[in-house]
Amino acid sequence: MTTIRTRFAPSPTGFLHVGGIRTALFAYLVARQAGGQFILRLEDTDKSREVAGSAEHLVESLNTLGLSYDEGPDIGGDYGPYRQSDRLDTYHRWAQKLIDAGRAYADPYAPAEVQEFREAAAAAKKPFLYRNHRPENPPVWDGSTPLRFKADPQQYQWHDVVMGDLKTGPEVIDDFILIKTDGYPTYNFAHIVDDAEMKITHVIRGQEFLSSMPNYLNLYEALGLELPIFATMPHIMNEQGNKKLGKRDGAKDVLDYIRDGYLPEALVSFIATLGWNDGTTKEVFTHDELVETFDLHRVGRSGARFDEKRLLWVNGHFIRELPLDELMRRAEPFWPSNAHTVDVAYKQQVLSIAQERLKTLNDLPALTSYFFDEPTRDDTLITENKQLKKLTESEVTTLINAAHDALATLDDWQPGTIQDALNQLLESTGRKPGILFSLIRIYTTWAPFSPQLNDTLALLGKDKTLQRLRS
Ligand code: GLU
Repeated sequence: MTTIRTRFAPSPTGFLHVGGIRTALFAYLVARQAGGQFILRLEDTDKSREVAGSAEHLVESLNTLGLSYDEGPDIGGDYGPYRQSDRLDTYHRWAQKLIDAGRAYADPYAPAEVQEFREAAAAAKKPFLYRNHRPENPPVWDGSTPLRFKADPQQYQWHDVVMGDLKTGPEVIDDFILIKTDGYPTYNFAHIVDDAEMKITHVIRGQEFLSSMPNYLNLYEALGLELPIFATMPHIMNEQGNKKLGKRDGAKDVLDYIRDGYLPEALVSFIATLGWNDGTTKEVFTHDELVETFDLHRVGRSGARFDEKRLLWVNGHFIRELPLDELMRRAEPFWPSNAHTVDVAYKQQVLSIAQERLKTLNDLPALTSYFFDEPTRDDTLITENKQLKKLTESEVTTLINAAHDALATLDDWQPGTIQDALNQLLESTGRKPGILFSLIRIYTTWAPFSPQLNDTLALLGKDKTLQRLRS
């Protein structure tokens, strides 16, 4: 039986965004599920597009999300090197095979000549094809000109696990560059050589490569290579579903999401369900559930929508699922600055009542800072609240006084007894919770939201609660 080997092959040209992570995740899942290997290969053959630091950033992103690879540039493996710029000899060796077989030639044309060919084709209303201009007696290739593949145009039919059965005619096939004048191979050439040498069984990649498939199939044939399984991932669309996800719609660096208080496991679950489901309505998956149930055949052909509100919901779900001590560990960098002045047990209590309401760890300061600091009065919480803004000043004073006096009589300052007192207060004042409880919450916290009122007051303590109501 062949071992399943998948790869993630990013170019170090910037940060890793959601689309890239999805490709990596699906390749990872296919390998893990089959007990195979997941390989990281750095495709750094376009020196002009390289961004300093992005290779390290890619590695950090994969590690942060727990997408561990079995072979890669920083850890090695049996089929290395895993950085294309370290594999130039390999590409030249394979290129020589094509030259020897008469399937590659030195491209003799200067850009101006190619431009003339293009214009002539346009004037004749014909598509421009390099293969219509093959030199009769090409010079021996010495690296000073590009090395171009001599295609053998034909019809192709192939199967893509996601896109289904596909078919193209010979007209879409053309001669393309294998090796550039800087000595580096093109992606089109290098990835096929590498996938073969690294014994990759599944090529899982983005939709932008689909139109080049006929050319790739032609090259596989010329190189005498067996075809891997192909699975093409559709684009991820913006929330409206009308265009490809761009930076403005949230195609941001995955590490930014982590910095913004998202949990890696929430991102993984959310990204897995961009275009994939398990056949039920289940929306959140743990790592192990994904490994067990993921199936490339269930990836949709049309673009999945990136809905940031759903991500927020998924993140809240994973936060609520965390055991408290684990949440404590994860929340550490997110506390409001004064939280370090209190003891750990108190922080843990704050977290235990806030947990239910946290959508991201970044909500922690807004949700809890009044436990550690005297809050600053913010009247907009009242003037911008639909119900509260209708109250007169004396109505507010009366209600707050009533709350103060009722709570002041409590000897036992516990969530249960506080709740009883609050309920009695509802009856005696004849107000709705939306008014009475909101007012008490605002006057004791001056925060836009907080954990449940009785829990909040219990933890704030009787003295602080009464003192804030008084002031
Ligand atoms: N280097 C290509 C990219 O970053 C990888 C495509 C592939 O997976 O084959 O888009």
